[in-house]
Amino acid sequence: MPCRIAIDGPAGSGKTTIAKLLAKTLGIFYLDTGAMYRIVGLYLEKSDVSNDEEIENKLKELKLSFSDGDFFLNGKKVGDEIRTPDVGIYASKYAKNEIVRRYLTKLQREIAENENIVVEGRDIGTVVLPDAEVKIFLVATQEARAKRRFKELTEKGVKVTYEQVLNEIKLRDKQDSERNVAPLRKAKDAILIDSTKFSIEEVVQKILEVVKE
Ligand code: C5P
Repeated sequence: MPCRIAIDGPAGSGKTTIAKLLAKTLGIFYLDTGAMYRIVGLYLEKSDVSNDEEIENKLKELKLSFSDGDFFLNGKKVGDEIRTPDVGIYASKYAKNEIVRRYLTKLQREIAENENIVVEGRDIGTVVLPDAEVKIFLVATQEARAKRRFKELTEKGVKVTYEQVLNEIKLRDKQDSERNVAPLRKAKDAILIDSTKFSIEEVVQKILEVVKE
């Protein structure tokens, strides 16, 4: 039986760091579905699409693949250009669209099928892999998440202010939880962990205990 670990939660809840460390510790794959929404969000924003038909046609032209932990868009490796707050907003904007969600959900299921894998996102435990063997829902206050995100971005050399990051998190929380399709929700059978109360290592340890059960 595969071991698929779904980790969901809002922007900046520590999902990425935790999911990566967990996958490394267990020696299994890691899939960042937020990166997929960012890639598609940036692509559609640049394409200037204005309706569902245009979105559908643009997605038909797009070749998004995943290999060795990297994403490739039409053959070109995707880098840190998708990590800016603006691209986070585009991702969240197009993540509301049913066609985009159907397209990415299908791709995510194909990648995770029969794998031992940690999959990180917003709707993994509820929609993408509702029968995942382990489901975790990570939360933290907006301020704690903004502080974390601000530190990460400035360390990468991205020029932003704390206020910009906090506003982006507030906006994305609102868009992600109020949208009609696959809103951010804890799956009924997911384990809730407040990441403000624990260090990254402690959270990983808690998840490892659940995996071993
Ligand atoms: O995880 P990250 O913050 O990079 O995700 C960017 C945006 O992509 C989120 O704010 C959300 O709108 C969208 N997303 C989603 N479903 C996922 C992963 C990300 O709607 N599974």
